[in-house]
Order: sequence, then C-alpha cells, then structure tokens
Amino acid sequence: MIRLFSQLCKVFKQISFENEITAFDKYVGSINIETLVCPICGAKHTLSPFASYKRHLVTYNNTVQDNIIIISRYKCSSCKRTHALLPSVIVPYMSFSFKFTVYLIHDYLVHKYHSVEAMCEHYGIAISTFYRILKKFKGHKQIWLGLLEDKLISNLSFVQHIIKSSFDELEDFIIQFFKRNGSSFFQGTS
Ligand SMILES: [Zn+2]
Repeated sequence: MIRLFSQLCKVFKQISFENEITAFDKYVGSINIETLVCPICGAKHTLSPFASYKRHLVTYNNTVQDNIIIISRYKCSSCKRTHALLPSVIVPYMSFSFKFTVYLIHDYLVHKYHSVEAMCEHYGIAISTFYRILKKFKGHKQIWLGLLEDKLISNLSFVQHIIKSSFDELEDFIIQFFKRNGSSFFQGTS
C-alpha cells in the first residue's frame, strides 16, 4: 500500500477537505509515478500501473454520500509486489472517509443528536460500527498523544483541533501518524 500525500505535489496546497471526492480526483490526477518509491523494497522508478478496482467511499458534507471511486494498483518491477495507491482522504480498509469519521465522533461528543440511535440513523451506520470507530478513535488518540497528554486533552478538544486544522496540517498529522505507527489513524475499525 502506498499512502499518497499532497506534500509530494505542492501544486495542490490549495486543496480542501470540503469535498473529499474532488480532493481524491485531484490527488489521483496529479500522480507522478516517477516520484513514487516502492514501500516494500524501496526501489525508485520501478512502479508501473498494474490494475485498478472500484470501491465505495462514503463521504460526509452535512449529508452522507456514497461514492464509487477507482483505486489504482501499481506493480514494482524490482520486487514484483503490487501496491494500492491511497490518497489521505482514504482510511485503508474502511469505506468511510476520514472526514466522515471525524464528524461522526464530533457530533457524538457534542450531543448533536438526542440519542446515539438517531445519530447513527443520520449517518446511515450500525450502532455497533459507531462504537468500533469510537473505540479506535480513543485508542489512536492515546497512541498519538501518549498516556499523560491523552488525559489532559479531552476527546472533544482533540477532534475540534482536527476539524479546525488546515489541509496541510491535517495531512501532516495523517502522515506522521502513519510513519510512527505503520497504520493510519482510524485504520482497523472495519
Ligand atoms: Zn519493490
């Protein structure tokens, strides 16, 4: 798996998470395979398009939207492994986008809906799915902040900080978390 970050292509500094599908399309349209490094063997200039597959990406922008996106796989001519190219709006192995997940947690913490059931109905997810995501959020927050800081910074201030972040800051957070832990924030909830 190759996490694709716009820091690799500064042209897209103005990108916004407002519409994640637009962000996704811009990412994919801006891929320069010459700059990609094989995440397994570290070889450069060895990746070439191999195949692509369709998957769901559920996004959130006040309403829930189910999108079909196309993920490209690249093959490394050196180690023969194939890698999916995943822009930062995508949480690996999860059909919900990063923003969807962040807003879900936010709305829960501010009690935007009168019950968890009502909230899950609005977001179109099972209650058990929500609790899995919440648990992962808390676990990853603790990993990121460390035990002490985690106690000092509330879940709500953490999630509000994420929401208020600029795209660059957000992406920096996603990339640093990934580098440090080898998996992405929210990964492992489905
Ligand atoms: Zn390789």
